[in-house]
Amino acid sequence: MSNNKALQDGDAAKEVKQEAEVKPTAAPQTQSEAIPSDAEELRALVRLLIAKERKTLVEDAAVETARIQRQKQRNATAINNFHKRNTKQGRCVHEKGGAHRNKKISDPSVYMHRYIDGTFVIKCQGCNFAWKEGDTKRYITRFGVKQPNVTGKSWLDALEMLSRSTNTMTSTEIPMPEAPRPIIPLPGGGAEEAGE
Ligand SMILES: [Zn+2]
Repeated sequence: MSNNKALQDGDAAKEVKQEAEVKPTAAPQTQSEAIPSDAEELRALVRLLIAKERKTLVEDAAVETARIQRQKQRNATAINNFHKRNTKQGRCVHEKGGAHRNKKISDPSVYMHRYIDGTFVIKCQGCNFAWKEGDTKRYITRFGVKQPNVTGKSWLDALEMLSRSTNTMTSTEIPMPEAPRPIIPLPGGGAEEAGE
């Protein structure tokens, strides 16, 4: 009997223990159910925003990568063109007819070009090199950057070539000639030039 009762007591104790064990786990469940639904919505919203942000970041990275790639390609092309042009300008004889010209007759393929700001350059029709005042045989300065002169010809050399060239400035490049001053008749019968 006593054993039986003890068993019963034991079972009862177990049950109590089980209840006690169950309670702590049950408690948070009731608590989480008690969390207001807007908090859940907020969490969902945050998750959504993070996902969106992540997607944007990935997209931005892809756009940036493509942009860098295009820039690299442009730079490579520019550098390649720069070297090609330098090679051409370095080899150019700045003579009409180039390498196949009649070497007995010299007619430099250079001409004077006047910019709108009044500055002059001497350009070669063959290689498009433009000499500017101050250019030495060794160096030219463009956009404030001192660079090697690939032509080996200075501004003075360019002027000398220009003096031997049959080229003339084109009409748009010729500075406007000074207009003759109008003659204003004087009351006395004489005339004087305006501004004098
Ligand atoms: Zn040239």
